[in-house]
Amino acid sequence: MNINTNFTGQYITGIWRDGRAHKALVDTNPYDGAVLATIALANADDLDEAYRAAQQAQRAWATALPADRAAVMLRAAGLVHANRTLLVNWLIRESGSTRMKAEMEVGAVHASMLVAASFPGRVTGRILPVDVPGKESRVYREPLGVVGVISPWNWPMHLSNRSIGPALALGNAVVLKPADDTPVTGGLLLASIYEAAGLPPGLLNVVIGEIPDIGDAFTLHPVPKFISFTGSTRVGRHIGMLAMTGPTLKRLGLELGGNAPLVVLDDADVERAAHAAVVGRFLHQGQICMSTNRIIVDEKVHDSFVDAFLKRVRMLKAGDPNDPDTVIGPLINRRQLQFAQERIEAARAAGQRQVFGAPAQGQVLPPQVFVDVPNDSELAQAEHFAPIAPVIKAADEEQALLFANQTEFGLSSAVFTKDEARGVRFARRIEAGMTHVNDITPNDDPNNMFGGEKNSGLGRFNSDWIIAELTTDHWVSVQHGPRPYPF
Ligand code: NAD
Repeated sequence: MNINTNFTGQYITGIWRDGRAHKALVDTNPYDGAVLATIALANADDLDEAYRAAQQAQRAWATALPADRAAVMLRAAGLVHANRTLLVNWLIRESGSTRMKAEMEVGAVHASMLVAASFPGRVTGRILPVDVPGKESRVYREPLGVVGVISPWNWPMHLSNRSIGPALALGNAVVLKPADDTPVTGGLLLASIYEAAGLPPGLLNVVIGEIPDIGDAFTLHPVPKFISFTGSTRVGRHIGMLAMTGPTLKRLGLELGGNAPLVVLDDADVERAAHAAVVGRFLHQGQICMSTNRIIVDEKVHDSFVDAFLKRVRMLKAGDPNDPDTVIGPLINRRQLQFAQERIEAARAAGQRQVFGAPAQGQVLPPQVFVDVPNDSELAQAEHFAPIAPVIKAADEEQALLFANQTEFGLSSAVFTKDEARGVRFARRIEAGMTHVNDITPNDDPNNMFGGEKNSGLGRFNSDWIIAELTTDHWVSVQHGPRPYPF
């Protein structure tokens, strides 16, 4: 089945129409600057219309048969599969994804739609014991209502869909605001897929507008019960503040920044660790919240690790993301490139030792490797979102753990050791939501928990965890016959 790909504006109340802000967003390819779409932007009235439509549509959807909601998810998954090439090509052109990353992302969207199709059948209430004669106590698990979703540009289709799919499957309606760099892959393409899958109008709305016009209004609007935000810690804090201090309290899911350590202990398989560090650092140019942002190596294996790491780094092809052999494509925009270049310059100026690097060609920044980086330096503490790899030497396991935990973030992490029990003991002492023994730091699986500690956010994604986040409990008790009241 064909899906709509003629994108010029918004998707509100099931209608494709221009926004009313009288401004346009020109959506371009970060590799070659080609114009992909021109979007007539939304204003606060459009946003309001989207939230009202969602509220209206949600009432019937909440009582739709579980099998009918599951069927929409399964049809959407089928459409993703059938349109795989189209979706991959959009991700390459709009988000600068390399071909291999775009394939992974479409696979992740497909997999999480399949898992979401199981959710309508997994929502159960409870009957509880109660210490009151003649009372029956039930807890009903209900959808929240309307969920507002704000997503970033790095894995735009997956990170939008990991909230949208579960929210819809569980009987909620959604208003989605994708990132400015990825209005199509982060929003409009998903609307096309769910529309073609038979999702009733109004249940999914995509609103694209400038932050001064719709940013705060998105969280402050009285209709949404939950704001699912994925993005930077700076903006996440702001949204959290609005959700807590605005006129209507909101539940929140905040999936924020990271500074994942990959720790190589003295008994690690150094080749395996180096391979994982290269993949974990350079996949999607390092623009992943779970990217290996620091590599902490026990001094006993440090030099052999650095040799193995550099051997692999030298082989990475940087350039056209459409070329199947390219590993490092463009950074998303000029601003992100400039941030990365400034950080490299600052590190050099501070005397950090760079052992590999080359200047950017257009927006493609080749790998940059630094060694002997102090853990308390800017280079080790900042989230790079770029192909910059700081290697930090640790005296022993305890110092490696100390360094791993010396960060404001706590999203993902990894530890390499040939002793898996030692790896698990170490993993459990890392202050993070996710730790992988002998694997890369970026791991996301729809049947497994996802989420962070510390300034990496609040809340959890996937499987039972997202079911809990996007539903609410309602205690309903029935008093069978008169109850002896105290007065
Ligand atoms: P960002 O915070 O700049 O933007 C994220 C989204 O928020 C975008 O859609 C943006 O338009 C929107 N936004 C900005 N200001 C807003 C406001 N006042 N009100 C409402 N919306 C607003 O982040 P980014 O640069 O798009 O993404 C990179 C960041 O996202 C990194 O820090 C990365 O670690 C994080 N991230 C986290 C996860 C995770 O699951 N923890 C996943 C991917 C990315």
